[in-house]
Amino acid sequence: MTENKHRSGFVNIVGNPNVGKSTLMNLLVGEKLSIITSKSQTTRHRIIGIVNTPEYQVVYSDTPGVLRPNYKLQEQMLSFSLSALDDADVLLYVTDVVETIDKNDDFLQRVRQMDIPVLLLINKIDLTNQTELEKLVDQWHELLPKAEIYPVSALNNFGIEEIKKRIVELLPESPPYFEKDALTDRPARFFVSEIIREKALMLYQKEVPYSLEVLVEEFKEENDIIRIRAVIWVERDSQKGIIIGHKGEALKKLGTMARKDIERFFEKRVYLQLFVKVEKDWRNNERILRSLGYKL
Ligand code: GDP
Ligand code: MG
Repeated sequence: MTENKHRSGFVNIVGNPNVGKSTLMNLLVGEKLSIITSKSQTTRHRIIGIVNTPEYQVVYSDTPGVLRPNYKLQEQMLSFSLSALDDADVLLYVTDVVETIDKNDDFLQRVRQMDIPVLLLINKIDLTNQTELEKLVDQWHELLPKAEIYPVSALNNFGIEEIKKRIVELLPESPPYFEKDALTDRPARFFVSEIIREKALMLYQKEVPYSLEVLVEEFKEENDIIRIRAVIWVERDSQKGIIIGHKGEALKKLGTMARKDIERFFEKRVYLQLFVKVEKDWRNNERILRSLGYKL
């Protein structure tokens, strides 16, 4: 009887920016762990989400989209995506119905040569019709003959249950990698800074949100409230002005939106203090990137 053997493994989600990786990850894990916005490059780090049942443990990880690095931070983001290919038991390769397929893409070539099971998810099928979809499926079948192809719509939660089931079938027999009550390997502070960054992406235009980083300096949980002090780092004085806004109104709005989400996340009242600091050219400063947890 092999039925009672515990299964466990790493399921890594890869693909180009904006195809819906983080949305899918949250559906698969069932919690809002990854931040999701319509702007690309929202996901800078690898984020792990864990699903536990008595029979199995699935360790999902969401990666930044694959892209060509323009500066050090992006090099790091790309390396997270490539490392996702090395340590997976199952690969979820996400594409959508709108992105153009680049047959010579390096990443695609790497995936083609891999031996682990690949589930190719064609997301956003709510945006297309049956004929177009069939053409896409044929195209992908030629590009990745060994992959199993699943048309899905993360937005409408369509096709997701089938994928969850398939993933469990593909998991190797193994003891759990993490404590069985773990949901993620990330500390609370990480989620706070991600939530603040998500709101900044929603509120500010152009390059401003991309040149900021959020550092949670204090996270103090008391009986009925969590006290948080966070600093937003920007690269230039002009950006600091934009973040703060006229009479501090922009920062206030950011703070209110972030606080509400943080309260929802921790199911507790939150007191949030936000500061803005100029740290020139931090995206190219190795010391700073290291202190923010990027391994260089
Ligand atoms: P990521 O960059 O690959 O992590 O993509 P996100 O998960 O951040 O999603 C990018 C955008 O696509 C967001 O605006 C999502 O709401 C949207 N999106 C995700 N899944 C779907 C879907 O199935 N249909 C449609 N129409 N939009 C989707
Ligand atoms: Mg993402």
